Amino acid sequence: MDQLPAVLSNPTFTAFLRSEPLAVDLVNTRLFLEDSWVDLLDDRPTRQEWLIAEVGRLGVGGEDAVGFTDAAVDDLRPVRTHAAAAIDAVRHGAAPSARSLSGLNRALRAAPVVPQLHWDGHAVVAATTRRSGPLGPRLAAGFAHATLDLLTGSDISQVRRCEAPSCVMLFQARNARRRWCTPSICGNRTRVARYYRRHSSEG
Ligand SMILES: [Zn+2]
Repeated sequence: MDQLPAVLSNPTFTAFLRSEPLAVDLVNTRLFLEDSWVDLLDDRPTRQEWLIAEVGRLGVGGEDAVGFTDAAVDDLRPVRTHAAAAIDAVRHGAAPSARSLSGLNRALRAAPVVPQLHWDGHAVVAATTRRSGPLGPRLAAGFAHATLDLLTGSDISQVRRCEAPSCVMLFQARNARRRWCTPSICGNRTRVARYYRRHSSEG
């Protein structure tokens, strides 16, 4: 990617990209900005920051932060495609396609969760869960699992698309009145556009 759109260096917007349910965040890595599609997974520095932040929430092991190679990220792309299709269908009350479900299931099977026992050296036996396999499949399985959680829970009914013209960002409207991905960016943009429309039609 030559030049990233300016909004991607806006801290409010980058915080938004890491704040929604993980499956929504993944789908939101494909953005429509300034009249063209931008894929955050194609830009190494941007995706590195995004993945480091998200991996902490995923529980696939933050010690692998240096391993976000192109190959590992490529394992994630089909999960994003299937998550986007399934979320879009289910949030509209429609059936997800067999293709998207089998794609998500394939990712889940590729790196299953393995429960592990640990002795902390003092008094506690602790149980943790780890996914087996290389980082790429673990990342993909982690996000597929996050998609499974979203699709099978009640939160999916709150997932909406931003109302700003041409914005494709999804978010979970925990507050039923939320209309924009980022009120200070998309909300303002919408208000300004409406203002100019009103005033140009008067002139
Ligand atoms: Zn928006």
